[in-house]
Amino acid sequence: MLKDLLNLLFPKSCCGCTAILLETELFLCTACSAFLPFTNQHLSSTNEAMGKFYGKINITQASCLLYYTKNGRVSNLFHQLKYGNQPQISYILGKMYAEILSETATLETIDWLIPVPMYHKKRKQRGYNQVDGFATALAERYRIPINRKLLTKIATTSSQTTKSFRERINPQTTVFHLTPTPEYTGKHFLLLDDILTTGTTLETCAKLLLQIPQSKVSILCLAYTK
Ligand SMILES: [Zn+2]
Repeated sequence: MLKDLLNLLFPKSCCGCTAILLETELFLCTACSAFLPFTNQHLSSTNEAMGKFYGKINITQASCLLYYTKNGRVSNLFHQLKYGNQPQISYILGKMYAEILSETATLETIDWLIPVPMYHKKRKQRGYNQVDGFATALAERYRIPINRKLLTKIATTSSQTTKSFRERINPQTTVFHLTPTPEYTGKHFLLLDDILTTGTTLETCAKLLLQIPQSKVSILCLAYTK
């Protein structure tokens, strides 16, 4: 009764197209769910996601769940995830991806899941890291631990004179930081992010992880920008 009344007053709308959702629909309407552009990159080891890293860094495997286009249901979905206080979108997409990945051996050799870290002040501002739900969904399905200690994002304190113009107008410069210990030697890390665009952030993180002796790095993202 109360639920019905709340739904009547504040009807939930689809994160892809803003249509009013039915009780049985989670965050996407049936039409949006039916037209999600899956990449199926997990089915090929020489896919577009891998292509972003060729010649730059030695990645073991990489793939993304959906194609991201600027205007459309997938971009609306990620806008809601990042700015609409809807962290559950990451978890639901993660569960979907976990199911799809069970068709392959993609996660069999992974030792640690590493969500791309967010600077703690930014996390506090948003209230969540938009990759955490994705990581949790994979951790639950495959019983692989999430590691948030090894790779972190910290603020740098470079002197004012050596700062670029961009750093001076935006003084909070952050860098990724690795805290390796012998227990990580020879491990296979799976880096997780929301959208793969240029791949620069993931490349930086992967380079740090590959400094660990005999380590391997693979990458999974929820969306891929062509
Ligand atoms: Zn919709």
